[in-house]
Amino acid sequence: MPEGDSVYRAAARLHELLAGQLLTTADLRVPAHATAALAGRRVLEVAPRGKHLLTRLEGGLTLHTHLRMDGRWEVYRPGERWAGGPAWQIRAVLGTERGTAVGYRLPVVELLRTADEPRAVGHLGPDLLGPDWDPAEAVRRLLAHPGRPLAEALLDQRNLAGIGNVYANELCFLAGVTPWTAVGELPGPDRLVARARQLLDANRLRPGHITTGDTRRGHQHWVYGRAGRPCPRCGTTVLTAGQGEPPRDRVAYWCPYCQRGPAPEVPAGRPLRGVRPGPGAEGRPPGR
Ligand SMILES: [Zn+2]
Repeated sequence: MPEGDSVYRAAARLHELLAGQLLTTADLRVPAHATAALAGRRVLEVAPRGKHLLTRLEGGLTLHTHLRMDGRWEVYRPGERWAGGPAWQIRAVLGTERGTAVGYRLPVVELLRTADEPRAVGHLGPDLLGPDWDPAEAVRRLLAHPGRPLAEALLDQRNLAGIGNVYANELCFLAGVTPWTAVGELPGPDRLVARARQLLDANRLRPGHITTGDTRRGHQHWVYGRAGRPCPRCGTTVLTAGQGEPPRDRVAYWCPYCQRGPAPEVPAGRPLRGVRPGPGAEGRPPGR
């Protein structure tokens, strides 16, 4: 699941290869655009918008792509072997004299007029890594539905654009509340929004979505991907459960000691190892 910072880096790589260059090949392997003749056009720029990529071409055209769960854009120098997956997974090829950008498993490949970009990305909330980032507007949108579970509201790109499941879980941990906490109950929503921006910005040029400040493998996250392992802050076993309805369901992770708020019942018999004795350790069962 790409997060906004991954998409930002993908856009930067594509921009470096393509901007200002004439397309020598342009091959969109999706039925709607398979016959589009784009070779010979110059690429103006590649811009990220939330988790969307906008490749703007001269002549007022934009190639809109989205990576969703496992799409990728790879960049290859001339003569380099394409290694992003089998050929049938390739959805787009943009070649210049300097190299080739190959889009694998892209669920969205859409050619539209640049003037019509709002149709593709106009629904997005303030972009965490965008030049028009507006924290007050992001907070306003988040709080517009105060009963919504926090993780769900953070993942809704109409509220703010760029958060995927890693940051949604980690931000809940950093706010000290469970992913099921109603967004209206969140203490200091402006702090959380500022922190979201800080995290994506800090990770904009490096992989890993690091939220702990610790770049070592296995130490990069507080709770995300750590089910059954001890919480790095208090030692309590990190729990996991599904959240939301298919197809929009995600995996949630939380520490039942560090995070207050509602949570699903923990399966009986699962030991909570390593709980440090302290005020609230017994008095804060999951589910409250
Ligand atoms: Zn903890």
